[in-house]
Amino acid sequence: MLRDLNQPPGSLVGGHAGDAVPTSPMSTPLARYACDPAHSRGRRHPVPPAPTRNDFQRDRDRIVHSTAFRRLVYKTQVFLNHEGDLFRTRLTHSLEVAQLARDIARPLRLHEDLVEAIALAHDLGHTPFGHAGQDTLNDCMRDFGGFEHNRQSLRVVDELEHRYPDHDGLNLTFETREGILKHCTQRQAHALEVQEPGGVGRRFIAGTQPSLEAQLANLADEIAYNAHDIDDGVRSGLITLEQLAIVPLFARHCDQAHRDWPDIKGRRLLYEAIRRMLSAQVYDVIAATQASIDAAAPADVDAVRASAPLVHFSDAMRADSTELKHFLFRNLYRHPQVVDINRRAQQVVRELFALYLDRPEELRPSFAERVDRERAVADYIAGMTDRFALREHQRLTGRTLFP
Ligand code: MG
Repeated sequence: MLRDLNQPPGSLVGGHAGDAVPTSPMSTPLARYACDPAHSRGRRHPVPPAPTRNDFQRDRDRIVHSTAFRRLVYKTQVFLNHEGDLFRTRLTHSLEVAQLARDIARPLRLHEDLVEAIALAHDLGHTPFGHAGQDTLNDCMRDFGGFEHNRQSLRVVDELEHRYPDHDGLNLTFETREGILKHCTQRQAHALEVQEPGGVGRRFIAGTQPSLEAQLANLADEIAYNAHDIDDGVRSGLITLEQLAIVPLFARHCDQAHRDWPDIKGRRLLYEAIRRMLSAQVYDVIAATQASIDAAAPADVDAVRASAPLVHFSDAMRADSTELKHFLFRNLYRHPQVVDINRRAQQVVRELFALYLDRPEELRPSFAERVDRERAVADYIAGMTDRFALREHQRLTGRTLFP
């Protein structure tokens, strides 16, 4: 039996996860279709309940204290970490996702601590250099099971954090892990199913949904990056307010801001339009989702999992959001300057992968001693911050790709 670290030394606490766990006071009662920590599917390694925190708060706390979480501050969202101090990083992005998800969870009476835990952990598996890093690592790992950042986020919390005396990983609840694994290939799902029958891989095989909290964290991610990529894109000078006039969702809120504040311009206009756009999306999700929940009337979270997706935009907002995404894709993510940086970042990752395979003694010892050599190299590179990857590349090749 384990000793609860929140209890005085010598006091042993029995029971299993969810057994008489004190829940934090919520302003409104939890909906019957929300995840309830008192009925969690539990942790892979049972632990005694904490005296003052519910299991989802505990998950959130474990995530915030993890090494992978601290690294998010030096990982790229769209712009490289060193390009400017005010651009989003994976860390500020994750905080914005958590804030939006909590704002939506509360009126829907979903579990706020769970959406927060999922949101804070959702990008833990991201490589340095954003999607350019992930795509390159996936190429490098093509013959060795591939690389996907959602699957890697789960690997981080299940295996790669080494903080506990008796097990690897953070030992999070099923519900948080279910939310972290938002995509998964069939091959990965079947591999997970072998390791953990009926676990977090099952829904990808069965074609069912995750909890509403997981669905919400996923949509909050999209709302967050659509908004902050506009902000960072304009700040960087790669896109302009004038260009954004062709994006209906932005233009509508920009016009309204102008009507209310005829003299507003520049930064203040940008912020006012983004603020209004964010609010509109949040209220839209709440209304559209509540209507779907009312129509489906799920009795509990298992009914949610068996139902069609219930967290969504209205059709009109979905169309607006898709148009905004297309705009960002064409004008920001495919901007020649971003493409050039991505190309160099891909070269860094590709060369690091080949170098470490060739000279495993250059890996940190805990990675060098692993027998699954390719996966160990992928795990090592995936954990790197942008600047550590650049330093390592420079150290091992003597070349500087980002002067
Ligand atoms: Mg994200």
